[in-house]
Amino acid sequence: MVDVSLEQLTDDNTNEELPTGASTRAVHAGAARQKAHHSLNSPVIQTATYTFRDTQDLIDFMESKVWGNGEAREEYGRYGNPTVHAVEQRIAALDAAEDSVLFASGMSAMTSLLLTVLPTGSHIVMTGDCYRRTRQFCNTFLARLGIETTVVDCGDYDALDAAVIPRRTRFIISESPTNPYLRVADMEAIAEIGKRRRVMTLIDSTFATPVNQRPIEWGIDFVVHSATKYLSGHNDILAGVVSGRADRIKALRDSRGVLGGVVDPHNAYLLERGIKTLGIRVRQQNETALTVARYLERHPRIERVWYPGLQSHPDHRIAVEQMSGFGGVVSFEVAGDLKSASRFIDALRVPIIAPSLGGVESLIEQPALMSFYEKTTEERLALGIKDNLVRFAVGIEDASDLLADLEQALAFV
Ligand SMILES: *Cc1c(COP(=O)(O)O)cnc(C)c1O
Repeated sequence: MVDVSLEQLTDDNTNEELPTGASTRAVHAGAARQKAHHSLNSPVIQTATYTFRDTQDLIDFMESKVWGNGEAREEYGRYGNPTVHAVEQRIAALDAAEDSVLFASGMSAMTSLLLTVLPTGSHIVMTGDCYRRTRQFCNTFLARLGIETTVVDCGDYDALDAAVIPRRTRFIISESPTNPYLRVADMEAIAEIGKRRRVMTLIDSTFATPVNQRPIEWGIDFVVHSATKYLSGHNDILAGVVSGRADRIKALRDSRGVLGGVVDPHNAYLLERGIKTLGIRVRQQNETALTVARYLERHPRIERVWYPGLQSHPDHRIAVEQMSGFGGVVSFEVAGDLKSASRFIDALRVPIIAPSLGGVESLIEQPALMSFYEKTTEERLALGIKDNLVRFAVGIEDASDLLADLEQALAFV
């Protein structure tokens, strides 16, 4: 008889004994060594609900859920799924966190977290350059709940400290590296302010991945990733994740059961599959992006390159200190206007025009025409977005092909 008990799918977690290498964890963490039917891969438990043998079975479960400490089995799809749990534990191991909880998208992860931890009338401090939709959520939805947001400049830690209001500020939110200028947060400085002022801290670490930085090891309370990007790595699913201390993640998992932003089991499986190659993808993307950044910085038709791996970047020193790679996104300004930048982009043969980043395909965009299209040149400049700015998210194509392509396309600037 084949044993397909849930215990066999979810227990026997060997994270504790696993070596700490990011690639080893990316391949093995969170999954039982022996799975149902001796399958090598995590089974996709494609179900909306879970069954009870008889009334006594249900009563036993309820007794343990309500009065005991255990949810030893699953109950309903919005509360949990074994395929989802396996991925959550894999990401927790990568983030060096006690636990992680998966959501339907990066935005679902961020909004669920903020709605869970912030009481009405509280206050948050956010660094500039944060993801546009996160800022929008704070300025509209949270504002409606009487939760105020103060935005401070990236890199100004005195301003960050000064913005904290005693007994009202609950959260410091930062992103690192940021979009599109790849500003890098000093995680040690933010964690120090958070601990001294008794405020929780969060880093949106999407652009870095756990391969390049682990904010929790620097004392940050929560890490958020849009798993849509590097973690899944193939531009085929949307997902998001929050990592942190076990009790806080448990509370967040409970609130996911209410807010409902669950990830589909099949997408969770695709995410787990993508994560297996995270280490080699990200290290390759780090290497190619650095090569591209160095090439562009020397090119006469490029005015400025933004990449934390270059000495010219304002946060280079912190990046060297706190990151083990500089990531796969390079932003740069071509020598010319909006139209010159568009001519260059249209002449490229390898990178594809699309929003997003982190997949195996190189993607390229002009922020002025993508995220900031409805604004005038002047309004964009006030936000720090120049018309000639290009964001290049390198994929895993051969660096030599990307360089040759850039070279021929730059003739069109
Ligand atoms: C894409 C992205 C998000 C939002 O994630 P979705 O999965 O698209 O909801 C949040 N933060 C950063 C830094 C992102 O790049």
